[in-house]
Amino acid sequence: MGLNGGVKITVLAGGVGGARFLRGLRTQLRKAYPNGDGGSSAEITAVVNTGDDMWLTGLRVCPDLDSIMYTLGGANDDERGWGRKDESERVSAELTAYGIGWPWFTLGDLDLGTHIARSSFLRDGLTLTEATARLAERWNPGVRLLPMSDQPVETHVDILVDGKRRIVHFEEWWVKYRATVPAQRFIQVGVDAAKPTPSVLRAIEQADVILVAPSNPVVSIGTILGVPGMRQALHGARAPIVGVSPIISGAAVRGMADACLTAIGVETTAAAVAKHYGARTRGGLLDAWLVDEADAAAAPVLTAAGIRTTVVPLWMNDADTSAQLAADALAAARF
Ligand code: GDP
Ligand code: CA
Repeated sequence: MGLNGGVKITVLAGGVGGARFLRGLRTQLRKAYPNGDGGSSAEITAVVNTGDDMWLTGLRVCPDLDSIMYTLGGANDDERGWGRKDESERVSAELTAYGIGWPWFTLGDLDLGTHIARSSFLRDGLTLTEATARLAERWNPGVRLLPMSDQPVETHVDILVDGKRRIVHFEEWWVKYRATVPAQRFIQVGVDAAKPTPSVLRAIEQADVILVAPSNPVVSIGTILGVPGMRQALHGARAPIVGVSPIISGAAVRGMADACLTAIGVETTAAAVAKHYGARTRGGLLDAWLVDEADAAAAPVLTAAGIRTTVVPLWMNDADTSAQLAADALAAARF
């Protein structure tokens, strides 16, 4: 239990997988630790990947923070998977007419409002942490959203296009090329000058449970872990660290995470991702790991390798299955 009696849960998260998982966790905690007000006495803090961030049309865009903020705020376009629902693209058409921006990267009108507000806060001298808190005030997400770092760290990808080597922003490889051109390697531009924010370090240190969302192990969780000092902070935390596999039956549940894993030489299986994260007792990240029923065979092997592995359904299809997954993750932490 936390100091004020409220359980503190810290979650490492990327965009879509992170958002779905956090929504389920919020539901579960409202049930398990109700505060009598429809909310929960438990506190959730999300440490979010900012490696996909970029300056676009003069504005700071933070795709993973926004996916989580919109999803928890009930404003996400759940059908498309990202961006705002009831969106229009009039401004985007104007920007295209001026020849700025990326024609393949849609910025909807409502979404642009967020980016303008964020850029305005940053220009006023707020840190990204402060700007994120200001944006989130409006959405009442029920989760504290923390960027992993206040220093910009952008993931770039080394690719071969028509025999020519190019280094592009991660979103260009992901959205324009749909990750179909093989990645040679990922580069975290700016990482040497980055550090976890004081709020992130506190959230890790004070947590009763730390959860690793079923997010992309390379360009979401891997990017967070790549911030100098982050692994040490996690390693030193008093809380158990439980991860949820984003891979079921040898495939990414949604999206193209397999292309990222292949690029770093990790097999697309729940077991290989767990081994890549490593057992905490052996210098790695994880105390416990959840795999889907389809991957039950991996459990004894991983447990023997020092990662206590539980077999539960991992599909987050709706509110109930997502909340149950969160409950299972907390149970694996013995909570
Ligand atoms: P992104 O930043 O939007 O790419 O999202 P994340 O990094 O948070 O998550 C992407 C990962 O979420 C993908 O690798 C998927 O495998 C995983 N994912 C999405 N939906 C589910 C689900 O229902 N269950 C599980 N276990 N993983 C999921
Ligand atoms: Ca992302």
